[in-house]
Amino acid sequence: MGCLEAWAPGRRLRCRFCSSAWDGSSLILGTMYSYDIFAAMPCCTERLKCNSCTKPLLLPHQRLNFFSDYSHKVACPHCGIQDWHFVKPLGYCYNREWP
Ligand SMILES: [Zn+2]
Ligand SMILES: [Zn+2]
Repeated sequence: MGCLEAWAPGRRLRCRFCSSAWDGSSLILGTMYSYDIFAAMPCCTERLKCNSCTKPLLLPHQRLNFFSDYSHKVACPHCGIQDWHFVKPLGYCYNREWP
């Protein structure tokens, strides 16, 4: 995640699905390099869908206990496929907003 500094202040990421802005300011970035900080903050159900069958892995109000849980390989309860379902490509989830 060393490239995160490239996302300078003033440049914001906005979710393509619910258009909520990703706010990294609530995170202490230095402590979160070991896992995907974007996966750790799912803003809407699109982020919680199975990569294979696209059914949601969690109910909309459900959240995992730990940020790091989102970076783990999990089995989909619907199709049984094991994958990093919560880790989506950045471009898939976010539009960049340029000032
Ligand atoms: Zn969203
Ligand atoms: Zn599935």
